[in-house]
Amino acid sequence: MARRLWQPTKAGRREITGSRLDRPRSKINAIIATDGVRKPNHVSIAAIDASSPAADRRPVVSRNSLKFGPSDGFQQALRQRVERYFAITGRKQRDCPQMYAKTGVILAWCAASYVLLLCFAATWWIALPLAVSLGLAMAAVGFNVQHDGNHNAYSNHRWINKLTAMTLDLLGGSSYVWARKHNAIHHSYTNVTGHDDDINVGIFGRLSPHQPRWKFHRLQHFYMWVLYGFLPVKWQLYDDFRDVVSGRIGGHRFPRPKGWDLATFAGGKIIFVSLAFVLPMLLHPILAVLLLFALTSFVQGVSLSVVFQLAHCVEEAEFPMPQPPTDRIESAWAVHQVHTTVDFARRNPLLAWLVGGLNYQIEHHLFPQICHVHYAALARLVESTCKKFGLRYTAHDTFRAGLASHFRWLRRMGMPTAA
Ligand SMILES: [Zn+2]
Repeated sequence: MARRLWQPTKAGRREITGSRLDRPRSKINAIIATDGVRKPNHVSIAAIDASSPAADRRPVVSRNSLKFGPSDGFQQALRQRVERYFAITGRKQRDCPQMYAKTGVILAWCAASYVLLLCFAATWWIALPLAVSLGLAMAAVGFNVQHDGNHNAYSNHRWINKLTAMTLDLLGGSSYVWARKHNAIHHSYTNVTGHDDDINVGIFGRLSPHQPRWKFHRLQHFYMWVLYGFLPVKWQLYDDFRDVVSGRIGGHRFPRPKGWDLATFAGGKIIFVSLAFVLPMLLHPILAVLLLFALTSFVQGVSLSVVFQLAHCVEEAEFPMPQPPTDRIESAWAVHQVHTTVDFARRNPLLAWLVGGLNYQIEHHLFPQICHVHYAALARLVESTCKKFGLRYTAHDTFRAGLASHFRWLRRMGMPTAA
């Protein structure tokens, strides 16, 4: 059946199939907002395009490039409403004072936990809570500082984004590899098996219905929570090196780091190993250092993984596959993001603060270049626009509800009858 496309209007909606609005990212001089307000040319297109996910895609050469269905007007309508929100409120999309203050608090938390653990943890009952605190602080740096920096959502200044992104190198992960793996691949091909490497944990687990099932996956809803704790070490000491040596991530080729990028990659790994192992081993017994490193890394890994999984690997998220012979995903890109992503705990401001707004993951996927401090406000616009276009927008009310859904999804994917 022929696909019909719609554009929202004051009276409801009108069909735009075959019109120029039907073409993705077309140069329309003015877009009529869903509330009937006409936006001038110089504001709408340039500024709206600045928050385009396409602008966020760092160079990746895809061996198997995927295409999405044609735009149905949803993304354009959404961009205009969000642009209008910033115009009316006068808020800045990036360089937000609260983000700079938050960065100071989180980096101080991380540094204080490390220094106290290194210099003042004389007994195990002081060392253990400090290791947990350091693990949580490292996850918070990842969620808040490096994530916004790497997406160019932190600042309008390139060097500030670069600097904040490099906090990941300090934590042991390569910001260079991450930018390609996360920004270019995960954000483009969310939940597409064989392309999105974030849903690939190898033989250890089955997160997508299109992955092979092994007998032991029957128990994955119990053991995966523990495995999540080991992912940072694997990432820091194996995955980054494998990706750089092979020049591939999830079947996609990417340019290997050179010059300054290569120096940052190598320097980051050396600093991380020095801070995590060499310096502590000069002051403490080797076994104590290794055990405390394991605990810190475990806490960080579980925190990072759970937040990711609650957004994409739950019962309500979809796992679309490209349709042969065109190798095209049926939905338009923005619609695909809404279908494959789920929000959670939107009324929990403390959690939102800690996880860098990643409980508003739908908003993050649609506007990755807008600072996360705005996601709570944008969520209302996104949800109502989804409603207008008849798209399902899913959010779990609480963190616990999201956890339960991820548990059930793992159990379902591990069952012999799993589709
Ligand atoms: Zn992201």
